[in-house]
Amino acid sequence: MEWEMVVGLEIHAELNTETKAFCACKNAFGDEPNTHVCPTCMGMPGALPVLNKQAVIDTVLVGLSLGCTINERSYFERKNYFYPDLAKGYQITQMNSPICTGGGIHLSNGRFIRFNRIQLEEDAGKLIHGDVTKIDFNRCGVPLIEMVTEPDLRSVSEITEFLNTLKQTIMYTGVCNCRMERGELRFDVNLSIREKGASEYGARVEMKNLNSFKNVGLAVAYEYNRQVNILESGKCVDSETRGWNDSLGETFAMRDKEDVSDYRYFRDPDLPDIIIKPADIESIRRLLPEPISAKLSRYAAIGLDDSVCRQIASDKYIAEYFDTTLKNYYDPREVANWILKDVLKIYDGSQDLPSIISSESLASIIRMVAEGRLTRANGRVLFEEVVATHEDPEKLIKKLGIAGLVEESEIVSAISELMKLAPNVVDDYKLNPEKVINYAIGYVMQKTRGRARAEKIKEIIEEVFV
Ligand SMILES: [Zn+2]
Repeated sequence: MEWEMVVGLEIHAELNTETKAFCACKNAFGDEPNTHVCPTCMGMPGALPVLNKQAVIDTVLVGLSLGCTINERSYFERKNYFYPDLAKGYQITQMNSPICTGGGIHLSNGRFIRFNRIQLEEDAGKLIHGDVTKIDFNRCGVPLIEMVTEPDLRSVSEITEFLNTLKQTIMYTGVCNCRMERGELRFDVNLSIREKGASEYGARVEMKNLNSFKNVGLAVAYEYNRQVNILESGKCVDSETRGWNDSLGETFAMRDKEDVSDYRYFRDPDLPDIIIKPADIESIRRLLPEPISAKLSRYAAIGLDDSVCRQIASDKYIAEYFDTTLKNYYDPREVANWILKDVLKIYDGSQDLPSIISSESLASIIRMVAEGRLTRANGRVLFEEVVATHEDPEKLIKKLGIAGLVEESEIVSAISELMKLAPNVVDDYKLNPEKVINYAIGYVMQKTRGRARAEKIKEIIEEVFV
């Protein structure tokens, strides 16, 4: 019998607003525990929530970039449950009336993966387990968007492509940095299997809190095989919530699947309805950045190769950095080359690119190389020194003594020096010219502090050593 998987995803993205969703506490990661708390996010009796307008704007931005309908009226509900990471005893969320509905993502195989909804809610605190369990409420009340797909995904490769595109789209709006190692993007997976071609769905298993694309892929593959084995042995799959054990590489049963009615949802009487008028939507739409497709054609038009266009356009921050550097020195190919080869070697996605090296400094190094004030090799030396010290390239070039090129006579005298030091180089050259040329280039570069062009050195050696 042939089986197919049916997968729907719930994706949580933490918004990077200045303050939390319903109070004025700072929204910050990694600070001293319980320093960004107040009566509202600590769930003190009588404390009232006040909605953060920016969180609504951010939700609409994501909705617009995924083609969702933005609902003119939506409201908040309380999802009641007891767990120590949420002091109020309920989570403020949206169940029956989310801000966005519909929308979706086109996959390269032509299939369209639909969103059911995008809703705004609050994050819970963080439990830190050890000899005793500690609670950090800094994250409690941080705005989260929950994006729920329809059960449209059919394979691990579709899931991976979908998640990559989604991450890229969210990052483009700038409302979430999607650093999975910080939990800014988290996934729940709903998976069932059925006979290929069947129209009914099988029993659904939910896998909670997967924190990387890799783990989503592994958990889906594992769970698919587990369910196929159960069905093929003539048994039934239990509808339940399962966790993912990273070190064993398998899922494990956590609890029976809870039902919507278990949470006793009801409208939050402390918060008014959210009203978003068509004019508001239009003014939010104007905040959306240039779409990736427009960037790709703009970069192709200035002469960049397809793969280079894609690498630069793939990340909003890289694209911005490229554009600013280009304003300081207009040579698209050179600027792209330096960013992709040198700057991105240091970039891990968590720093600001200009904090590695400012666009002005990078542009000025590229200009020095182009104008012949520096050899390419010394351009790299200067680049590394600017990255390390953040000093002005003009000052550093003098300090390092690497400006300009040496006269041809200096190269010739360095080569004769080498011939005295190692008299057998000329014989070696006849046996293995390439090896000797590389060795000699290294020697001359060292003697001239890199102020010689490799091609020139090679040219002179070829004359002298014959
Ligand atoms: Zn607070």
